[in-house]
Amino acid sequence: MGVLLSLVVPAYNEEAVLEVFYKEAKEITAGIQVDIEYLFVDDGSKDSTLSILHKLSEIDECVHYISFSRNFGKEAAIYAGLEHAQGDLVAIMDADLQDPPKLLPQMLKAVMSEGYDCVGTRRISRKGEPPVRSFFAKLFYKLINKMSKTEVVDGARDYQLMNRKVVDAILSMGEYNRFSKGIFGWVGYRKKWLEYENIERAAGETKWSFWKLFLYAVDGVIAFSTTPLVLSSVFGFLFCFIALIMIIAIIIRTLVFGDPTSGWPSLACIVIFVAGIQLFCLGILGQYLAKAYLETKKRPIYLVEEAVLGKIKDKYNNTKTS
Ligand code: UDP
Ligand code: MG
Repeated sequence: MGVLLSLVVPAYNEEAVLEVFYKEAKEITAGIQVDIEYLFVDDGSKDSTLSILHKLSEIDECVHYISFSRNFGKEAAIYAGLEHAQGDLVAIMDADLQDPPKLLPQMLKAVMSEGYDCVGTRRISRKGEPPVRSFFAKLFYKLINKMSKTEVVDGARDYQLMNRKVVDAILSMGEYNRFSKGIFGWVGYRKKWLEYENIERAAGETKWSFWKLFLYAVDGVIAFSTTPLVLSSVFGFLFCFIALIMIIAIIIRTLVFGDPTSGWPSLACIVIFVAGIQLFCLGILGQYLAKAYLETKKRPIYLVEEAVLGKIKDKYNNTKTS
């Protein structure tokens, strides 16, 4: 048997596009000289995604799937996919065809004959995306790269192909608060980047609202940087310093000009401002504490409702014998 490539495909409510994806991926992979396993991860879809997966796995024995007990998020789906992928090589790919399967041959070549451990992809344009979203996305990448030692590449997709070594490294990071863009950078190894123009999703709708993206960005900062904590200490120090200067200035003024009782509005403003900064810093602390709290609970990253997997790692006792 030759090299086995597992395609891990997280899918949440993707009934509109799943079959189109399967058809296109199948066409591309037909021309590739490796064996393919499709590993769909149904992330608790409420539409007919799972029944499409039932159907596909019946007609094609290369199609495997895991179905979650509820929606656990794309990060959990990626983790589950990597954990159950049986391939020597594993690629992560979105179900909406925004990650063009036609790059696969190029990616395979880089890993199989150019000596890379991993091939990442990044989109060099954000064509078709609302401008406000692009603005905040760019701002986020700038900020996180200033704050974190781990490089988070602007425009990097989760679409990538890696060898077993990299997969095992990623799996060894069993944290609950998973920020893949950071995790992929953190593990290192020899990585090649392929670039392509942004492609809009083939059908269906994006699962990411602006608010969800914002929370994801906060998760990312907290997972890969402690700079906000340092910042709150800096704020504290700065305010003590300002207060000291003000005290000295007031003492001198009182000695020189006496003590006229005035200036309470400015005092009120200062009190409110400083209280605001204090709450802000407490909030930062709270965020880290909340994440630490969740990590200490050691909850599972996902729960499986049903699965059809290949022979090697079939721990869910399914009946399929592919
Ligand atoms: N996805 C998932 N769980 C979620 C949200 C999304 O598995 O809770 C999957 C989704 O089915 C798709 C991929 O993650 O295959 C990317 O999602 P989407 O296309 O909605 O994100 P966008 O490309 O707009 O960033
Ligand atoms: Mg998409």
